[in-house]
Amino acid sequence: MFIDEAVINIKAGDGGNGCFSYERLKYKPKGSPDGGDGGRGGHIYLKGSAQIHTLQDTAYRQHYRATRGTHGKGSNKFGAKGEDVTIPVPLGTVIYDEATGDLIADCLKEGEELIVAKGGRGGRGNGSLVSPKNPNPERSEAGKPGEEKKLRLVLKMLADVGLVGRPNAGKSTFLSKISHARPKIADYPFTTTEPHLGIVKMPQGHDSFVVADIPGLIEDCHKGKGLGIRFLRHIERTKVLVILVESTSEDPLADANVLIRELEHYSKSLAEKPKFFILTKTDLVTKDETKIPESWGAMSAVTGEGLKEVLGEIGDLVKRSREENPDVVF
Ligand code: GDP
Ligand code: MG
Repeated sequence: MFIDEAVINIKAGDGGNGCFSYERLKYKPKGSPDGGDGGRGGHIYLKGSAQIHTLQDTAYRQHYRATRGTHGKGSNKFGAKGEDVTIPVPLGTVIYDEATGDLIADCLKEGEELIVAKGGRGGRGNGSLVSPKNPNPERSEAGKPGEEKKLRLVLKMLADVGLVGRPNAGKSTFLSKISHARPKIADYPFTTTEPHLGIVKMPQGHDSFVVADIPGLIEDCHKGKGLGIRFLRHIERTKVLVILVESTSEDPLADANVLIRELEHYSKSLAEKPKFFILTKTDLVTKDETKIPESWGAMSAVTGEGLKEVLGEIGDLVKRSREENPDVVF
């Protein structure tokens, strides 16, 4: 099962208490304050990792705690820091505070570490509270509690191109021809029940790009039909959409419009992305059988006819949109 959402409880470590202690000295009956500070509690971090692709492990273990800082001791001994906890998450994980719904952060880069709960500060011991005005502080501080939160993690995969089509349109076959991705392919609807990413390596002139294959869309899937539009979140941040329609369709234009309407139901900005339309499975029809606008591509993933051309078009579109919006993550 592909898990792209998780709610986790996190609790950073509490700070250790500051110590209240006096060093006994012969010549100073009261002694001199020497209580050390408590150590800070462990922080909790999320760290972007390209090695993991779902939130499954994160979701499975619902609770994360960092250890507390140890207490300060006499002779100005400071307590040790609590141990930090780092939770690896797939790239593209969006982090929300579950209580407020606020967006906390967006984990986009490999190795990027985001602090999501701060460990409590260690309390100061009376040794540290000494000042010229107050040479004998009569107190030490307690450590501060570590932050405690409930986080909602939502994975929105990072890809340049999103494949959109009805079930069976040939999306997964197309991805398997243009990349090393091996999504399940079969002639029944909803073979693809989870999103897949494939990296397309371009020979020259273009940069490589990442393509996301998601489960098929059907009319009214925004009302919960089929697998619904939940998976559209994985193409929300793509630069380009590729709309695939079977050449055996009676009316490819109408079919494409149904798909676009479903995209609009999900989000306007998704529907407004640059699109490239492809007629698939051209080996099943004779050339003049289908009427499509000139801007459309046509291909057969089985015979390979037109594959290179459509890939070139998609590559160009990606390149152009990368140039136009170099840093945009939608
Ligand atoms: P998806 O649901 O859009 O991912 O579609 P699939 O890639 O799983 O393909 C659905 C069915 O169509 C499978 O049986 C494929 O073998 C078949 N198919 C895909 N591309 C072509 C093609 O270019 N020509 C022919 N004849 N069949 C194809
Ligand atoms: Mg598929």
